[in-house]
Amino acid sequence: LRVTFTPLQHDSGKKGGIIAVLQDITEQARLEQQRREFVANVSHELRTPLTTIKSYTEALLEGAVDDPELSNRFLRVTMTETERMIRLVNDLLQLSRFDSQGIHLHRKRVNVIRLLQYAADRFSMMSEQQGIRLTLEVPEQLPEAHVDQDAINQVLDNLLSNAIKYTPAGGSVALRAMVDRQQKKIEIVVMDNGIGIPARDLKRIFERFYRVDKARSRGQGGTGLGLAIARELVQAHGADIEINSKINEGTTVGFWIPVAEEGEA
Ligand code: ADP
Repeated sequence: LRVTFTPLQHDSGKKGGIIAVLQDITEQARLEQQRREFVANVSHELRTPLTTIKSYTEALLEGAVDDPELSNRFLRVTMTETERMIRLVNDLLQLSRFDSQGIHLHRKRVNVIRLLQYAADRFSMMSEQQGIRLTLEVPEQLPEAHVDQDAINQVLDNLLSNAIKYTPAGGSVALRAMVDRQQKKIEIVVMDNGIGIPARDLKRIFERFYRVDKARSRGQGGTGLGLAIARELVQAHGADIEINSKINEGTTVGFWIPVAEEGEA
């Protein structure tokens, strides 16, 4: 708490009384602390792939380049790490745009069943390659939603890629939707029976860079920003997202989107 005192001076020139201003600086200190942590996180996240790229490049220069099999492996690692770094920088740019300009949604009426079908199609190959059964469970009919299609596609991509990343081969991932007509909401759920999240990590899991296991996330190509971006995009629709999980049993992430009202374009 910061307290400032200002003596009061009357028009007549006489002094009398004091104004005390009590200012809560804890919020300011908290924001400053968050900003510092963020910069430290970004630096660390960029240094990790750069260090890897450097050491593999060094090994190539020092002779590994003459061994075709070895050089192929090392170049692949370099490529993967570069791709992850590009993803990271893109995610960061997106978040920084959200912070500075807010999120501008281009909402229209959207056919949700089709949207979910496309999302499932985008991931059918990846899930098959990893030995994961991906199912789409939607009712025969759903009302149209009033959303920014690109934004919701990105939310779905982030949630589905997590479900597949953190579910071992042999597991399953389900994409579901149901309507709550009274509340004028469509609820969308991504459910997996993968590794789960410990209870103590759940309440911070939507924070930028928060991960249960950094090494595992990086190994899977993760940036630690997917859930943070998903939450911002859902909340920009005036909606909400929540996560439930049990370690070694699986994770369910659910969010809702508004049903299009009559007259909405
Ligand atoms: P990342 O790029 O690390 O996956 P996210 O922001 O998407 O970043 O997720 C943050 C963390 O939440 C992940 O590192 C992981 O620990 C945990 N997580 C997210 N989704 C799941 C899931 N479906 N199953 C288990 N853990 C998950």
